Amino acid sequence: MTILLGCIADDFTGGTDLAGMLVKAGMRTVQMIGVPQEPIGDDIDAVVIALKSRTNPVEEAIAESLAALRWLQQAGCKQFYFKYCSTFDSTPKGNIGPVAEALMQALHSDFTIACPAFPVNGRTIYKGHLFVGDILLSDSGMRHHPLTPMTDANLVKVLQAQIKGKAGLVDYGVIRQGPEAIKARFDKLKAEGCNFAVPDAITNDDLLAIGAACADMPLVTAGSGIALGLPQNFRKAGLLAECQVADALPHTGGLRAVISGSCSIATQGQVAAMREKHPAFNIDPFELARGKDVVGAALEWAKGKIEKEPVLFYATATPEAVKAVQTQLGTEKAGSLVEDAMAAIAQGLVAMGVGQLIVAGGETSGAVVKALGVTGLRIGPEIDPGVPWTTGITKETTQRPLALALKSGNFGTPDFFLKAWSKLAS
Ligand code: ADP
Repeated sequence: MTILLGCIADDFTGGTDLAGMLVKAGMRTVQMIGVPQEPIGDDIDAVVIALKSRTNPVEEAIAESLAALRWLQQAGCKQFYFKYCSTFDSTPKGNIGPVAEALMQALHSDFTIACPAFPVNGRTIYKGHLFVGDILLSDSGMRHHPLTPMTDANLVKVLQAQIKGKAGLVDYGVIRQGPEAIKARFDKLKAEGCNFAVPDAITNDDLLAIGAACADMPLVTAGSGIALGLPQNFRKAGLLAECQVADALPHTGGLRAVISGSCSIATQGQVAAMREKHPAFNIDPFELARGKDVVGAALEWAKGKIEKEPVLFYATATPEAVKAVQTQLGTEKAGSLVEDAMAAIAQGLVAMGVGQLIVAGGETSGAVVKALGVTGLRIGPEIDPGVPWTTGITKETTQRPLALALKSGNFGTPDFFLKAWSKLAS
């Protein structure tokens, strides 16, 4: 196994975002939930280890990131990527700067970039200042973020406050001259005692040029945008095939089901569209609270139906209905009752022979993935922006492969639950 790029993401959805970018750029990618404890398979070009290190205490974030780095080093990765949010979510204490410096030290590297730019999502950098759409980061909603309020858009200053070393700007005039000029500026910054370069970037072409200039850097720190520019370096070095299919998944076959614990507006439309075409079972939180065996009833109900067509299990309800449940049961209690039920249904479905499962809802997905013992995801074809099919990686390698699509609340078109199956090899 030769893994080329080893990535450490500071949160799960950020990891998914990066993994999706790498697959689009032609790298076969898996995303692991935490540091892997098990074999992750062959034929992989990039691994993204997703941590929850964005806002935890800096010492913990460093320790977790170093543990991830050690695993990636042992896997033989040629280059390393520390992925953070495109709005540079952090405080003067960190965690971006301190984690980046700890990774550099472990890699014996004295220079890297810090580049959260992601132009297609409106994150651009000019004169070191990060813009969110048309406004400065410090004028955006991020200034009120509960955990990481961003009140200064000047990234050189924001980063400088977090690091022991020195940060410097590579301004747009240099970026426009291409990779050689950018590399020359990196050398100049290094000679001036800098350890971090903050490159301006306004377009995808800028990211490609910066990516090319980073070919020999042991560590890159960035949002997911720079992922566009790195695969080309591996191709140039003859390490990555010119045009390979990066999103192929193993054939799973098996029965099909959808579990929806999301009450977001997009999911409500998707549930309504599926209910018109296929059998659907409603999970009632009040029945769960009364101690009724809803899970058993749901699985029994599915028999005789699921062999013929996809079936839906949903707790999805209108805001008024959710409010009524939450008022009576308490918000957290209602949430965990439903999540636990959905997770148990998922286990029952897999035991019944389900091989293709869609889960709607971020928290719901977390509960289902945990119950199924899934510790990582091999990223496959995209169903809608931000939602790929994946196959679950489990500690139990004898388990038959399971295709999983984990959909956050507001993602996907109204026919998502109907059209998704056609993206999998039948
Ligand atoms: P989303 O991605 O749409 O935010 P999540 O799964 O993250 O979806 O969150 C939805 C939360 O609402 C979960 O904790 C789920 O258990 C809970 N929930 C789902 N249906 C109901 C319901 N009918 N009443 C109350 N809570 C519900």
